[in-house]
Amino acid sequence: MNKLSIIGAGFSTAVLCHYLQNKDVHIFEKSRGPGGRSSTRKVDDIGVFDHGLQYISPKTEEFSKFISSIKGIKKWHGEFVELNGKEKILPKSEKLIGENGNNDFAKNLIDINKCKFKSKIEKIEFHKGHWKLIDDGRSEYNTQNLILTLPQEQTYSLIKNLDLKFKIEKNIMKPCFTVMLALKKTSIFKYSGYVIKNNPIISWCAHESSKQRSINNNELTQFTIQTTEEYGYANFKKYKENKNEILNEILETFLHMFNIDHPEVVHKNVHGWLYAYAASNDLPVFWDNQLRLGITGDWFTGGKAENSWQNAKLLANIINN
Ligand SMILES: Cc1cc2nc3c(=O)[nH]c(=O)nc-3n(C[C@H](O)[C@H](O)[C@H](O)COP(=O)(O)OP(=O)(O)OC[C@H]3O[C@@H](n4cnc5c(N)ncnc54)[C@H](O)[C@@H]3O)c2cc1C
Repeated sequence: MNKLSIIGAGFSTAVLCHYLQNKDVHIFEKSRGPGGRSSTRKVDDIGVFDHGLQYISPKTEEFSKFISSIKGIKKWHGEFVELNGKEKILPKSEKLIGENGNNDFAKNLIDINKCKFKSKIEKIEFHKGHWKLIDDGRSEYNTQNLILTLPQEQTYSLIKNLDLKFKIEKNIMKPCFTVMLALKKTSIFKYSGYVIKNNPIISWCAHESSKQRSINNNELTQFTIQTTEEYGYANFKKYKENKNEILNEILETFLHMFNIDHPEVVHKNVHGWLYAYAASNDLPVFWDNQLRLGITGDWFTGGKAENSWQNAKLLANIINN
C-alpha cells in the first residue's frame, strides 16, 4: 500500500514534491514524462518548442524566490511588443524559462523514479479506509492518502460519483491551439514576443529562437503561435476532424500579419489544448482529513503557474500540519 499517491505530474505536483514533508510519494501520470501544461515538444534536427506554458513572470517575491531556486531556470531576454495596427514596446518585466525547455520547471523538482508514466487513472474508489486507483491498463493501486492535481474537467470525471463535500459545478477552463513553426533563418523578427490585439485568431507569438537555447538549430527561426480562446472554442471540433485545416489557417494568419509572402517553412505542427487556462476563480483548495483526499490545481485561483504554486503550497501546508 502506498502512503501518498498523486495523480498528475505537472507543475502543481512539482510544487507539492518541494513542500510536502512526506517525500515518500507515488505519482501517476498519463503522459510519457513530467510537465503537464508546462510542456516542451522536441523535434529532431530543429530543437524544442514551449508549446504549453510560455514563461513565468512572478508577481510575488516569495514565488520569485521559489522559481529562481529551481535548477536550470534562466531569464528570457529581449523586448516584447504589442501589435495593434502599430508596434508598442511593452514595459520590461522578468520572464523566466527553462534552460532546455519549459518542462524544466517540473522536471527538475519531480523525481521520475517516483512516477508511473503512461498510466491514466480512470477510477478512484474509497474502500475499507483507503483509496483504490484503477488505471487504463486495468492495474490497481492502493494508497492511504491521495492528491489530484488535474485540470478542473478531468478532476470532475474522477470525483463525480463520490460523495464529497467538494463539488464542481461547471467547466471554467478555456481551450486554445499552439502552432509550432520553424522557418529558414530570417532577420525580420526583431522582438522576443508579440502580444496580438484585435485579431480573431492569434493572441500571442513567441520568438522561440530568442530564448537562446543551445539545443535549437541556429539556421532556423522558430516560433510558437497561440490562438485566442474564442478561436479555440469555435474550432475544437474541426481540430479533431481536420487538424491540417486549423494549422494552415493559423499559419496563413501569422504569415499575413508579418507580411511574409514566400515563407520557407521547415516544420509546422499544431497542438490543441482543450483545458488551457482557467477563468478567474476563488475556490479554497480541498482537503478531507477523514477521507485523506486532497484536490489542487491552478484553476482554484486562476490559470497561471503562480496559481498552481499558491494552491499546491497551501495544500502541502495543510497536510504537513
Ligand atoms: C498553451 C498554454 C500556455 C500557457 N502559458 C502560460 C504562461 O505563459 N505563464 C503561466 O504562468 N502559465 C501559463 N499556462 C498555464 C500553466 O501551464 C498552468 O497553470 C500550469 O502548468 C498548471 O499546472 P498543473 O500541474 O496545475 O496542471 P497540469 O499541468 O495540467 O498537470 C496535470 C497533469 O495531470 C495529467 N493527467 C490528467 N488526467 C490524468 C489522469 N486521469 N491520470 C493520470 N494523469 C492525468 C496530465 O497529463 C498533466 O500532466 C499556459 C497553459 C497553456 C496550456
